[in-house]
Amino acid sequence: MVRIQGKYNRRDAEQRFSCVYEAVSGDRCIYCGMPNNGKFDHQPPVYALHRFSAGALVTKRQIREQFGTCQLVPCCTICNMGLGAYIGCDINDRRREIADWFLPDNRYPGDKLILVMGYGPIKLHFKYRQTQSIYSFPAVGRAIYISALTGLMKDRYKSFDDFPDWLIEAQRELNQWLHAAPKRSGQHFLEMARLESYRLVPSARSDPRGQFSNMDAN
Ligand SMILES: [Zn+2]
Repeated sequence: MVRIQGKYNRRDAEQRFSCVYEAVSGDRCIYCGMPNNGKFDHQPPVYALHRFSAGALVTKRQIREQFGTCQLVPCCTICNMGLGAYIGCDINDRRREIADWFLPDNRYPGDKLILVMGYGPIKLHFKYRQTQSIYSFPAVGRAIYISALTGLMKDRYKSFDDFPDWLIEAQRELNQWLHAAPKRSGQHFLEMARLESYRLVPSARSDPRGQFSNMDAN
C-alpha cells in the first residue's frame, strides 16, 4: 500500500473520520466532572487516525484493531486542550496527561509555592463568601483541576458524586467564570499551564510523549 503523508487539516479530518466515532451522551467532562457545555473529545484523537491512515484508505476494522472503539466523549475545553493529540491507554492515563500541565513545575522553584497559594483563596472564598472573583488567579484553577483529576485517579473519589461540597461548588463557579467571556477558557488553560502558546511546545501537539514515533515503528 502506497502511503502519502497528507497535510493535516483538522476540519477535513474530522469530516473524513466522523463515521467511525460513536457519541457518548452526558453533560459533564468524563475526565474532571466539570460541565462540558456541549463540547466533546474525539478518543482517539482525529489526528491519530490521520497519522495512522497516512493518506491511504483504511477500513473501520483496521482502525478498531489499532485503537479499539472510537468515541466522542463529553469533555470540557480545559481537559480537551490538556489532552491535545494524546491517545493514552485508559481514562486515568489521560487524566494524568491533563494533570501534568497543572502540577508543580520543578524547573521553577517558586512554582510549588504559587500552587499552594491557589488553595488559600478557595478556603477563604468558601469561608467568608467574598464577592470578588478568585477564578482569574490561575493557581486557583490549577488547584481545582488537580483536586478533581488526581482524586479520581487515586480512587479517593470513585465517581463525581464523591466530590466534597467545596469542589462541586468551585467547579460550578469556575465554569461560570470561564464562560463569562469569549475565548476565556482557552486563554486560561495557557495561563494555568504557564504557556504563551502551544507553539512553544510543538511536541505536545504533534507527538505527545513520542506515542506516534512508537506507532510508526510498529
Ligand atoms: Zn474536564
